[in-house]
Amino acid sequence: MATALSKPPPGFVTLSALDAGHLSLPEHMFVNDADPVKKNLVPSLSFLIRHASPDGSVTNLVFDLGVKRDLNYTPAQQNELDIWRPLITETDCAKSLRNGVADAPGGASNGVLLDPTKDIDYIIISHAHWDHTGTPSDFPTATFAVGSGTLDLFQNGAGPAYPSIFFNKDELPALRTVEFPPVVRTGVYGNEPFAPKHTPLPSNTQAKPPAVAASWAWKPFGDLPNALDFFGDGSLYVVDTPGHIYGHVNLLARLGERRYVYLAADCCHDRRLVTGEKEIGLYDDGHGGLRSIHTDTEEARRSLERLKTFLKNHRAEGNEVELILAHDPVWRKENVHACWPGKV
Ligand SMILES: [Zn+2]
Repeated sequence: MATALSKPPPGFVTLSALDAGHLSLPEHMFVNDADPVKKNLVPSLSFLIRHASPDGSVTNLVFDLGVKRDLNYTPAQQNELDIWRPLITETDCAKSLRNGVADAPGGASNGVLLDPTKDIDYIIISHAHWDHTGTPSDFPTATFAVGSGTLDLFQNGAGPAYPSIFFNKDELPALRTVEFPPVVRTGVYGNEPFAPKHTPLPSNTQAKPPAVAASWAWKPFGDLPNALDFFGDGSLYVVDTPGHIYGHVNLLARLGERRYVYLAADCCHDRRLVTGEKEIGLYDDGHGGLRSIHTDTEEARRSLERLKTFLKNHRAEGNEVELILAHDPVWRKENVHACWPGKV
């Protein structure tokens, strides 16, 4: 009894969507039985998550930074941008934080709502792809947190499937970045032996992770086998979701006693994969075979199935869980009220 009473009540966060650029996805690269030439203009969403401490102080965390405003990518990345055009970059993550999302209630503010140069404490990047890393230099005081292996991936790539020319070695500030602990896996994931290695925190680090980070560990949460309690109060879980690319993570945010939002990043790029109307798209890999948009298609399929099972069972237990994909134009259109300074 004493144990139950001394356990602190669960914490909650608020969550707002941020416009952070748009790109166009060739449909056949994402779903099966697609029109071979059709492209869909989609957002690359960022999210602002605000966490209040018992002392009343508010911590601001941003999940994903979207597309780079100036498209200042490596030459190899630039050469591939045509695949994703049309691209829209005029409203990026930093601008959305500063002025609010233009069409949201209270958006297009003339004043500064949040100053990216000093008001953002943490930035979690879901994975190393160009349309999620945005412009980290806009956030000179934030601590970055990424999945294990992400820093090595930026530095060295990961074998023939992920040449280093498609990554910027200095994408993230090494001294202000912390990697989540490695996940112990069974079986082979991706193109081992090229899988990137974990980077421990350097001794001269300037990163300021939450105090609880010293005891961060992957534990089951419902049907999710590997979830990490970011603030240590059950308000925000980082969820290991292997398959798309090394280090890919999702977030589960707790907004109320039984109210959650699941940010699925690139677990899938089309809501019809969640409803079961479509399967993961396969296309020519340029070497006589087929590939998908994921590093390890089977692993990505398992991550998506686990997510569907989690949603089903967590809802059956009486919880409300809203699922938001990084690139869902329908969600963005229907949820203007949830865009900063509005909230979900
Ligand atoms: Zn991606």
